[in-house]
Amino acid sequence: MASTLFTHVRVFDGSGAAPYFGEVLVTDQRIAAISRDGDTPLSSAARGTGDAGGAGCAGCTTVDGHGATLMPGLTEAHAHLSWPSSVERFVPGMALPLDDLVLNTARNARILLDHGFTSAYSGGSLAKTIEVTLKACIDSGGLPGPRLVASSIEREPPTNNATLDPGAVADHGSGPEAVRAFVRSCAELGAKSVKFNLSGESALKPGASLQLLYSDDEIRAAGEQARASGVWLTGHAHAADAIKMGLRHSFRVLYHCTYADAEAIDMLESGKEQIFVAPTLGIVQATLDAAPPPHFDMRHMKEDARIVLERLGMLVPELVKRGVRVLPGGDYGFPFNPNGRNARDLELFVRHLGFTPTEALVAATRLGGQIMGMGDELGQIKVGYLADLLLVDGDPTQNVALLQDRTKLLAIMQNGRFYKPPRAVR
Ligand SMILES: [Zn+2]
Repeated sequence: MASTLFTHVRVFDGSGAAPYFGEVLVTDQRIAAISRDGDTPLSSAARGTGDAGGAGCAGCTTVDGHGATLMPGLTEAHAHLSWPSSVERFVPGMALPLDDLVLNTARNARILLDHGFTSAYSGGSLAKTIEVTLKACIDSGGLPGPRLVASSIEREPPTNNATLDPGAVADHGSGPEAVRAFVRSCAELGAKSVKFNLSGESALKPGASLQLLYSDDEIRAAGEQARASGVWLTGHAHAADAIKMGLRHSFRVLYHCTYADAEAIDMLESGKEQIFVAPTLGIVQATLDAAPPPHFDMRHMKEDARIVLERLGMLVPELVKRGVRVLPGGDYGFPFNPNGRNARDLELFVRHLGFTPTEALVAATRLGGQIMGMGDELGQIKVGYLADLLLVDGDPTQNVALLQDRTKLLAIMQNGRFYKPPRAVR
C-alpha cells in the first residue's frame, strides 16, 4: 500500500465549509483518514505504532505543508482540449493538420493538469475519436491529463457556416433519423457526451445566438437515442428556446444560457437535479480584453461580449439562488483565450457573478465531481474520496486568483499519486 500523509495543511475540503488546519492521509487512490484541529494527529500515530486508527501509516511519505492549503483538484466544465491555442503555443486559427491536431490535443490535456485541473468535462472536439483515444491513454497511465468526460465532435446542421466555426464538420444530415444515427455513432465510438449547438453564436455570426439550429423533432430524437445509448447530451444554448429545448429533451449540461427568460429560468430550476450550467465567462472576458491586430475587426464580437456579460451578471445569481448548479469553464482554446488559462473563470465568477471565492471553489470542486458523474467519490476531501488534490501556496478562499499562477501549485496529486511532487519529496 502506498500512503502519503499531508501534515500542517489548511484543508479546504470542497464542501463550502471554512478551511481547517489538520492532516490528511492518502492510501492508494483514496483519502483514508483526516484529522482536524484537536483530533489526535495522524502523524503521532504514525510515529508510534505505525497504525493511525487502522489507517496505517508506517513507511508512508510525509509531506509537511507548512501551512499551505490542501484542496480538491479543479474541474473544467467546458473544455475544448482539441482547440489549438494554449499558454504554451499560439495558433492563429482553429485548424491544424491531423497529426499536429492529435498531438496538440494531448499536449493541452497535460497543460490543464499542470494548471491544477484534475478533471475536465468536454464541450466538444474537433474530430470524432480524438478525445476517446486520449481518455484511454490518460486512464491507462500513458499520458498526463485530467480525468475526462470525452465528447464526440461538436455538431451543428449543414446550413450554418461561420468563419471561426470549429464545429463545421463532416457527417451532416438533417431530420430526426440523421440526428439519431449521429448520437448512436458517437456512442459506438466510445464518447460519453454528445455536443449539440442548439442555437447559434452571435460572436461568430451576428444574431445567431437567438436562432435555433435544430427542430424539436430532431432534438427529441437525440434525447431518445442518448437515453438508449447511455450517453449524455451537452448543449450550446444562448436562446431561451434553445435552453427550453435542451431541458425538454434531457440534456445534462447547458452552456451560456444568456437569453434565458422567466420560463427558461423556471425550467432550469425544476430540472436542477439533472442539469449543470456553465455560463462560460472566460471567452467573454477574453474577447473584451483582446487587442487584435488592425486587420482583425473584433468590434462586433466585443459588442456581443458586453451584452452577454451584462445578461449573465443578472441571470446567474438568480439561478444560484434557486439552487441550479453553475460551474466555471470557459471555452479555452481560442488564440486569445488559450488552454491553460482555465482557472481564470473562478476569478471571473467572483468579479462578475456575485460568487464569493469559496463559492467559486465549491463550484469547481464539489460540483465538478458531480458533473463528472462521480459526486459520491470525487471533488471533496472526505474519507473514501479519490485523492485528486492540490497543495496551494496561500489561501484561495481569500484570493481565488492565485490559482492562476501555476507556481503556487506546490503539488498536484491525481488518483493518489503525485503528478507534481512537492519539492521536499522530489
Ligand atoms: Zn464551447
